[in-house]
Amino acid sequence: MKVSVTDRGGFLRCRRAWYHLSTCGLALDSNRPPAIALSLGTAVHAGLGANADGKPWREAVLEDLRRNREESHEAYHKKVGVPMSKEEDLVLTDSEKMAVALLEHYFEHYTEERPLGPEFRYIRSEITFEIPVVTANGVEHVLAGTFDGLAVHEPTGEIWLVEHKTYSAKPSEEALGYDDQLTGYAWATKMLFGVQVRGALYDGLMKKLPIKPRELLNGNTSKEWIDTTAKLYRATLAERGQDEKDYADILGRLDLRDREPQNPFFTRFKVYIPQHSVEVWGQNLPREMLDMQAVVDSKGELAYPNRPWSGCWDCDMQDLCKAIQFGDDVDAIIRNNYHHNPHGHRTYHNDVVIRPGSNPLEV
Ligand code: SF4
Repeated sequence: MKVSVTDRGGFLRCRRAWYHLSTCGLALDSNRPPAIALSLGTAVHAGLGANADGKPWREAVLEDLRRNREESHEAYHKKVGVPMSKEEDLVLTDSEKMAVALLEHYFEHYTEERPLGPEFRYIRSEITFEIPVVTANGVEHVLAGTFDGLAVHEPTGEIWLVEHKTYSAKPSEEALGYDDQLTGYAWATKMLFGVQVRGALYDGLMKKLPIKPRELLNGNTSKEWIDTTAKLYRATLAERGQDEKDYADILGRLDLRDREPQNPFFTRFKVYIPQHSVEVWGQNLPREMLDMQAVVDSKGELAYPNRPWSGCWDCDMQDLCKAIQFGDDVDAIIRNNYHHNPHGHRTYHNDVVIRPGSNPLEV
């Protein structure tokens, strides 16, 4: 089996969903119309990866958006049977504009030259890897994945993972300290390059843009505490011919907030990853793969469900799960509502695959 780090997370979340949806299992894909909104994350990753490699980020994003547009139209036509309507296409266009605007704001905030800050320098970006994993019964599987990059902390020489994320709800620094995926990438770095990372530089982009402050009835600019930036606030004052001195209080607060590691638009945390966590992650991996193989070999008999009290809002096969649970005609649901998709969904990855020992770090 070739198991991605995301796939492994899916297995730990719910074996039933994993067996039916994963390319390691039945590889079912729902016939529901695909979400039109662009995967912002993919476009943002393309731009950030290109910048890290010293290439023009805008061109990389536009190329990614063009590919995404083509694939979205094709997938929609295939599933729905008719082309996307003009209104639906507009949703796609809005989403594309948002991806470019988010990156413009990101580089305005962090600069294109040293986006990770004065202390960090990229070593390489978009590391796509494959690592052989042998289970207790002697069977070899492969762990595959892509992480966003590695950087060196120049004052100390420590190596750090770089993890870009677009998000809608602010991440918590404490929760990131236990992040299973980041720990997995730390383990992968050790296997690939023999390097123990110190942690991960979490680089988050909130999916929203600064708001222009309102003009009050008396012509003044509102001092409401909204999601804006000092730069936009100053530009608005200049546009309205107003004196910055009269707004020194709010400008001072905004300047301070803009520099915080977490503000309304960006989150930049240093997440330390203890060596012990990395070791435990690596010890558990072959055991988990053994369990995955058992689920596949049992033809789903061992694919028991995991329905948490908070519900299964994150599951793409809720109708099928209900049919299995209630003893309904499962085959009919699969025939009518699903198709086989052995290729999985589009992800951002590098065409060069790195394997253990094959590509030493060039710091
Ligand atoms: S609905 Fe919940 S329990 Fe059922 S397959 Fe999906 S994740 Fe598992």
